[in-house]
This record gives sequence, structure tokens and C-alpha cells, in this order.
Amino acid sequence: MNVLKFGGTSVGSVESIKQVINIIEKQRRSDESGNSDTIGAVVLSAMGGVTNQLIEIGRMATEGNTDYMELVRRIEDRHFNIIKALIPVKEQSKVFATVRGTVNELEDLLRGVSLIRELSVRTMDLIMSFGERMSCTVVSECLKSRGIPARFCDARQLIKTDTQFSMAEVDYPTTNALIQDYFATIGTDLPVVTGFIGSTAKNETTTLGRGGSDYTASILGAALNADVIDIWTDVDGMMTADPRKVPSAFNIPTITYAEAMELSHFGAKVIYPPSLQPAFAKNIPIRILNTFNADHEGTFISRTADRRDYTITGISSIDDIALVNVQGSGMIGVAGVSAKLFSTLAHHKISVVLISQASSEHSICFAIDPRSADRVRQILEAEFASEIEHGHVDHIGIERELSIIATVGEGMKKSSGIAGKLFSVLGKNGVNIIAVAQGSSEINISVVINKNNLSKALTAIHNVFFQSEARIINLYLVGTGLIGKTLLKQISAQNHYLSEEKFLKIRLVGVSNTKKMLLDPQGIALDNWQERVLTEGVTTSLPALIEQIKTYNLPNSVFIDCTADKDIPLFYEPLLNANVSIVTPNKVANSGSYEEYRRLQRTAVRRGVKFLYETNVGAGLPIINTLQGLLTSGDRFLKIEAILSGTLSYIFNNFRPGVSFAAIVKEAKEKGYTEPDPREDLSGMDVARKILILAREAGFPLEPTDVTVNNLLPQSCLLAPSVPAFFDELVRNNDYFENLLTEAESKGEKLRYVATFENGKVTVELRSVDREHPFYSLSGADNILSFTTERYKERPLVIKGPGAGAEVTATGVFADVVTIGSYLA
Ligand code: ADP
Ligand code: ASP
Ligand code: MG
Repeated sequence: MNVLKFGGTSVGSVESIKQVINIIEKQRRSDESGNSDTIGAVVLSAMGGVTNQLIEIGRMATEGNTDYMELVRRIEDRHFNIIKALIPVKEQSKVFATVRGTVNELEDLLRGVSLIRELSVRTMDLIMSFGERMSCTVVSECLKSRGIPARFCDARQLIKTDTQFSMAEVDYPTTNALIQDYFATIGTDLPVVTGFIGSTAKNETTTLGRGGSDYTASILGAALNADVIDIWTDVDGMMTADPRKVPSAFNIPTITYAEAMELSHFGAKVIYPPSLQPAFAKNIPIRILNTFNADHEGTFISRTADRRDYTITGISSIDDIALVNVQGSGMIGVAGVSAKLFSTLAHHKISVVLISQASSEHSICFAIDPRSADRVRQILEAEFASEIEHGHVDHIGIERELSIIATVGEGMKKSSGIAGKLFSVLGKNGVNIIAVAQGSSEINISVVINKNNLSKALTAIHNVFFQSEARIINLYLVGTGLIGKTLLKQISAQNHYLSEEKFLKIRLVGVSNTKKMLLDPQGIALDNWQERVLTEGVTTSLPALIEQIKTYNLPNSVFIDCTADKDIPLFYEPLLNANVSIVTPNKVANSGSYEEYRRLQRTAVRRGVKFLYETNVGAGLPIINTLQGLLTSGDRFLKIEAILSGTLSYIFNNFRPGVSFAAIVKEAKEKGYTEPDPREDLSGMDVARKILILAREAGFPLEPTDVTVNNLLPQSCLLAPSVPAFFDELVRNNDYFENLLTEAESKGEKLRYVATFENGKVTVELRSVDREHPFYSLSGADNILSFTTERYKERPLVIKGPGAGAEVTATGVFADVVTIGSYLA
């Protein structure tokens, strides 16, 4: 025999009640053919949302607000609609009349409340009881009209409780006897029992606490020695986390009572915690099943659970708690302070969610429902008045806007390092832990954190403990020019490989260009981002974008700056402080003042996030990483020589006798190698920034003014008022360039635009190099760098290859993003 309980969403609409009827009919058919248990009883909640509305109605009536009548009408209509849809016309009027009678009773009660303008918890319990009474009336009639011998059963005649209205405690001996007596009289009828409600010895209506219909089912099941208690709800059983908060949560097929208890105690609403107790005491398993996916096996709760692939079983959270901190030097070693504290709380029926005491015994803190925080403070201040007066207790502090997350699992008993993993993932995501508690059963570690970090923390913890799920990087891209576009194309092509082979998913959650920006924490598909930015994007505002990134507070966020903008780097520091990693080819931040460069580095380290800029120099060539590798492994730099401009490389590789310098520059410009004004390349400023960054990476604290740029262009070229005028000047100065070339050729040397760092000095200049020099045989637009270090003294370490272009730059940025992925726990 089993007891079936259907929750609020399962009886929330015509369609869902049809599902409920199907489930009951199906089980009765297979029971007849001997294939399943007999249904002993059906327990129902109020239609979804009705209990909340009844509370609101009660409140409005107390305030004399007559709008409550309209709300009552709406509740009545919902029930009428079920009758109209599911009961044959000729049987309807009788059921309408019954519901009407119940509603009348509610209205009389509310009139009384609005007259005396007072609402006790006792009356509130009575008001709330109407939800279950009405749903059970209607559904039992629906079943009857389909030939099932259902009968309405008001649980107030069976479940006897004390007088703690709103959270009544069950008098089991009386209740069990009443239940057994009742069931002995009903033959093969199927009772449809109101969940959630009971009554006192004086027959006053009580409720068992919000979500209490599960409890009703368990009380019945235990009293009747059921074989199993089935809790039908709107999800596929108990999941590794609340699926509304962590969409990647998945079903837990089997779980122990203790684990289910911990998860529900810490917020997994799918089962009401007290429900587990009667079932546990009688060793009756509970199944959690999905009304809307009835073939799913759901979750089986019993004494044991199957072996699992994960060290923890699930995570749950309570969104809103307050922390009370009782502190004072007089508490140290004084026996009985905590005894007195907790007996006081117990006496006032304050339920404590979590307790944490530092070993110094200097303070005790505990978590409670924030709604009772002020009352708790008053109670404790009164109770500890003399200790406070004598200075033994100096402070009763209350902190609000907090949440609790609990990681739960029997597997935690046997494994070490779980707390470490938990704390490290929170640390990496910038989530501060305010208090920690580990239950002595060792199947639960709970942390208290700021409420605004809850969603991020849940997702990050879930990812790290249920690793078969890929780790997700949330990407914000600013700049959708050639490099940005290419990057997204590359990621799109590689995403499948990354998630299959590296368990890494890159999810684009924000894109912005100079005109429009689009943010979507659910992810922006990489094959139609351009269209979405165009149609859904809003006008770009950098400060608004940054604020939004902070508000989303997504775990593992990476901000990519694919621009050469001067203002975007101003936001790097706030972003790093918000635990967002940064990847950029933009040189502005690293080539400003040394102070700024250091500050960004330090902020990243302090926040445990990454600031990566491999593409600042030589696009995708492995330059910065190589340098950092040498430096951190203890090598010392003696000299860096480098050709760092693809443009200048191209120009001097092609400048040969018989071709004018002006023609080569023009050719480079036409091929798209130069800036629109080629002087920006020829001035050497860009190269100066790159060598400055390299010197800093090599460990030297240099300022931009420490770089000497020996100008390559004659003054008249620099001063020319326009680009065409500049080209005219180049032609006019042909002899000057020809002379430079002839002189080099005569020595058997080649002209090269070289940046050098040596003896703490940085120079950028046009030089001629001989056949022996590694830069002699350079071709195309390649970059080349040679590092002379203590370890590479005889023959320098040389890196050479294409150092510009969208494809290789995007590759370098991509590699940096993947590097961040590999640091994720
Ligand atoms: P019912 O109305 O059927 O009693 P509830 O709303 O009380 O349903 O409980 C079901 C809800 O519990 C789910 O929709 C889900 O959002 C929430 N929930 C929270 N934690 C969990 C979890 N670990 N597993 C499954 N559901 C959970
Ligand atoms: N209807 C009650 C509530 O909303 C009981 C339940 O749904 O279990 O709390
Ligand atoms: Mg519930």
C-alpha cells in the first residue's frame, strides 16, 4: 500500500489535475493486475499559489482593505474552472454548491477579521486551511465522476497537534490511533486528504508549517505502515541543486534519509524536512516523482544509497538568513553561556539554522530567519542583561542580507579535502565566507556568505563538485573589429573540441562595439551574435556595461578588450576587483606609468584572477609567456633585441636598390600593413610601447620617458600637414633614404628597425646589421626577438614569426582565455 501526495503545482491547473488523475488511474489499473501497490490515500496541497494568496487576503482584511474580496473571487473561479472542465455537466451543480459553501465560510471569517482589525496566528491558520479544503473537495469529485470511489477527508479530524499555530507539533499517539480507526471504516474507498492542516485537542485549526502537505503524507504513511510514500511534484526528484538556481543540476537516483534531511533543512524545498522523520522511524522509503514526467524514476529516499561518482550528493541554500553574534571576553571558559543562550532560544521557539563557535570561545554566532532577528536581539539583551552590565558579554550583533549554502553527502565522511575545495572555489570567485559550520555527522559543510554572491557561488560550487559538467567561462567581449570577430569565429569552431576534450565551455555573455552592446547571461549564440547585437543591442555605455557585469556577478568571468581604446583600460582595475579576469591585446594599460602597470598586476594577484596580454607584443607569438617563464624560474635578462613592427619589418625587408622608399611605404599602405597615417608606424612610438612592456616583464621598473626613440623620418616628413603631403615629402627626401641604404649595402649589411634593451636602457632606432646577426635574414612582415640572459648567454634565445594580423592575434587572445580555463578548479 502506498500514500500519494500531490503538491501545489500538480493540482494547480486543469491540465495538471488531468495528469494527477492519469497517475491515479494508471496505478489502480496496474494494482488490479497485481503489478503495483494499492493506493491507500491521496494527500493534496492547495492549488499552487493559493496559500500565499490566502495569507495576503487575511492581511488585507485586517487592514480593512476590501480588495480582498476580489482575490477570494479569483480563488473561487480557479476551482470552478476545474469543475467545469473535468466534471460532467449534470454533476457540476452539486460540487459548485459545496465549494460555494466553503467560500461563504471563508468570507464570513474574513468579515469578522476586517471588523475587529486583528489577525492572530490562530485565525491565520484557519484562513490558510481553506486552500487544501477546496482543492481536495474539487479533486475528490473529479475522481468520483470517473468512477473512482474517492472520498473527501478533512485531516483536521485525524491529525491532532499542540497549539503552536503556524508550526504545530503532532500528537502522534492520538493521531496514529485516529488515522488507524478512520482507515478501518472506509473499506476500499480512496480518501483524498487535505495536506498541511490539523487541529488541536479543542478542535481549533492548526497548520504544520509551510510546505507541510509532505508531512501529512508521511504521518499517514507511517501510521498505516505504508510500503512507500510517493511525493509527486514538478521536478524529476531530488536534484544535485535547486534546478531553478542551478540549471545544470541533475537527478539524484537514491539518497539516504540523513542526506535528504540535510538538503531540505538547508533549503531544498522539494521535501519539507519534518516529513522525513515519521518515514525514517518506520523505515518507509519516500519516492520523489514528477507529475509532469511520470515515467522518470525520480529519487528513492531510504536508509542506504547507491554508490555515486561524486564526493558530495547535493548542494542547497537558504536565500535569506541573519547572523546573530554574541561576543564577549567574559564568555571564555565560563561554562553555561552557550547552554543558557540556546535554552533561551529554544524556550522562545526560535529555530536556529546553523551554529558556529570559534575555538577561542570568545564569540558564538548562529543563523536565524531574518524576520525574527529583532525579536531575538530583544530576548537576548533581556536574558543577558546582567552579563552585559558586568561587561562579560559586550555585544549582540546582527548581520543581515546573508545566505547559507550547504554541501551535503555521506561520501564526505570518507574523503578529505572537501572543505579545501569548497573554500578555494569560493575564494577564486571572490566570495567572502562569513561563517562556517560542519555538522558533527560530517555529512554537511555549510557556509554563510553575502546574499548578492549566492547565485555565483552555487553555480561555481556545483561546477567544481560535479565535474562531468564542463567548467564554464563567461566571456564579455568589447570590440568587434577584425580581431574580435575572428576570435568569436575561432571559439565557435573550437567549442566542441574544448568541451569534449578539455571539459571547458566558453559562453559569450556580453558583446559591445562602439555603437551597441548586448548582454545575456544565458549566453549569446556564436553563429548569430551579430544579428542579435543589431536587433537587441542597446546604445553602448561603458560604465553601464561594467555595472551590469558586476551585477550579474557570474563565476569565472573574463573580460576581453579587443580595442586600442584609451578609456577602456580605466575599467580594468574595477573589473579585477570584481573578480573578473582580463585578456587583451590593447597595450595602453601596460605602457602607461609603471605604477599603473604594477597596480593591475597586484590587483589581479590579490583577487586571484588573471590579467593576460600575450598579444601586447608580437600577436600570437609566445613572447610574454616565455619572458615570464624565464624570470620566474630565476633567469636574469642581459639584453633584449627585437624587431617588433610588422609594418617596419615589411618596409625594410623590401627596401632595395632600384626601388624608392616612398614606393615601398605606399605598397605597405595599400596592402593594409600600415596605419591610415603610416607615420604612426614610422614614428616608432608603437615599437617603443612594446619594448617598454618587454623590459617591464623582464623585471625592470621603467617609465615611458626612459625609452629613447631615434627618429627615422626627416623633420619635413613629420611636419607634413596631410598623408598625401607626407608622401610628397618622402619622394622629396628620396636621397636621404637612398643614402642610408647604400651605406648599409656597401658594408654588406641590412637596414633593420630595432628595439634594444640593455644595461637598463631602451632604444628604438634604425640600424644596419651584418650577416652574422640573427636579424639579417628576416623576411615578409615577421617579428623577431632575441633574449640574452644568464642562461642563454652564448647563443641567445630567438623567437621569430608573423607578429601581426587578425588571425594570429585572435589566436593569442584565445590561448589566454583557455589558460584561464585551465586555472579553474
Ligand atoms: P510542491 O508544490 O510539489 O510541494 P515545491 O515547490 O514545494 O513543490 O517543491 C518543488 C521545488 O523545489 C522545485 O520546483 C525546485 O525548484 C525546488 N527545489 C529546491 N531544491 C531542490 C532540489 N535539490 N531538488 C529538487 N528540487 C528542488
Ligand atoms: N499549501 C501549503 C503551502 O503552500 C502546504 C504545501 O503546499 O505543502 O505551504
Ligand atoms: Mg512542497
